[in-house]
Amino acid sequence: HSHAPAQQQKAGASLDVRHIIAVASGKGGVGKSTTAANLALALSGKGLKVGLLDADVYGPSAPLLFGVNRKPDLKDKIIQPIETYGIKVMSIGFLIDTDTAMVWRGPMVMSAITQMLRDVNWGKLDVLVVDMPPGTGDAQLTMAQQTRLSGAVIVSTPQDIALADARRGVGMFRKVDVPILGVIENMSYFCCPNCGTRTDLFGHGGAELEAERLGVRFLGEIPLHSRIRELSDAGTPVVAVEPDGEHAKAYSAIADMVW
Ligand code: ADP
Repeated sequence: HSHAPAQQQKAGASLDVRHIIAVASGKGGVGKSTTAANLALALSGKGLKVGLLDADVYGPSAPLLFGVNRKPDLKDKIIQPIETYGIKVMSIGFLIDTDTAMVWRGPMVMSAITQMLRDVNWGKLDVLVVDMPPGTGDAQLTMAQQTRLSGAVIVSTPQDIALADARRGVGMFRKVDVPILGVIENMSYFCCPNCGTRTDLFGHGGAELEAERLGVRFLGEIPLHSRIRELSDAGTPVVAVEPDGEHAKAYSAIADMVW
């Protein structure tokens, strides 16, 4: 690859990480963070050494998702990531009050992300999953250009509006030569927790069609299920606490395709 020598200079080159995988979405609220966390846990379940970087500095969700309300330790001025459920997690939300609005310009966002890559003691990792900020703005572009991303996973709901955003996400990563690992359809269909009836709330299957159209892999679908939401809100992600359950299996199948 003609860019190879330059990539040695990029952030992440100093990291002892085999693969950095970005989890991205065109817009917020589609379940990108939930997917990133459970995907990281599913990869860890395969015996890989996994880190999760919450790069969504405007809306960090790792503190809630993992029930972390303490500050990371410092050792020789190096931040130690929080170790939980067998993975290493770092989020700007561990350092600041998550109720405080982040009013940062692009360059500050980028330097925060770069610092969380470089100045955190990730140790040796097989894979670092990066929960990207939503959208296709500055932060994404710089992240894609400044780190050696192995690939990007795009999360979308089945609605047209989300798919249009996903399409832009794919386009952006392609522009900066980051391979698209595939598209995940989240909130694919609704499972009634009482009667088990399945409802295609947002019109199931849109992401698979879109993936086909874009010529990228479809990685699988995750239903909209109250159990996933409840466990996320409780700080105990579904893959961590119900590793043999149906949801964990769905994330695990996606992890198999990504790895
Ligand atoms: P994003 O990172 O795209 O903004 P989040 O991962 O924070 O989205 O998810 C938004 C909300 O939807 C959260 O309350 C989360 O628990 C919930 N959620 C995400 N995926 C699912 C799912 N498959 N089933 C049920 N709830 C979900």
